[in-house]
Amino acid sequence: MKKLIACCGLNCETCDARKATVENNNELRKATAEKWQQMYNSPEIKPESINCTGCRENGVKFSYCSLCEIRGCVKAKGYETCSECADMATCQIVAMVHKHVPEAITNLKQLN
Ligand code: SF4
Ligand code: SF4
Repeated sequence: MKKLIACCGLNCETCDARKATVENNNELRKATAEKWQQMYNSPEIKPESINCTGCRENGVKFSYCSLCEIRGCVKAKGYETCSECADMATCQIVAMVHKHVPEAITNLKQLN
C-alpha cells in the first residue's frame, strides 16, 4: 500500500487510471478519460491514454504523471517521496497538489 502513495502524496491505489489498467477495463478507461477531459480542460485525454500502474510502481505511467515536475524533482534528489524533503512545507511545486488535495499531506506524513 505505501508504495502506492505517489511522490506528491496522492493515493494511486484509489486512482481510476490505475484501476482501469490493473483490471484492463475499457469502460473505466472511457469514463475516466471523459471525467479528466472536463476536470483538467484537456480534450486530448483519450481512453487509450488511460494507462498507469502508479507513480512509484514499475510499468506504464499516464502521460501527465510521466512528465510530472514533482516526480522529476523527487527522483533528482534521490528521494522516494516529498515526505523526505526538508523544504516540503514551503515548496510551491508540491503545494499545487496539496491545496487541492490536503489528504495528500496526511498520506506523506504517514510514510515517515
Ligand atoms: S501516477 Fe498514475 S495511478 Fe498515480 S495518480 Fe497519477 S495517474 Fe493515477
Ligand atoms: S522541492 Fe518540492 S517537489 Fe521537490 S522533493 Fe522537495 S517538496 Fe517535493
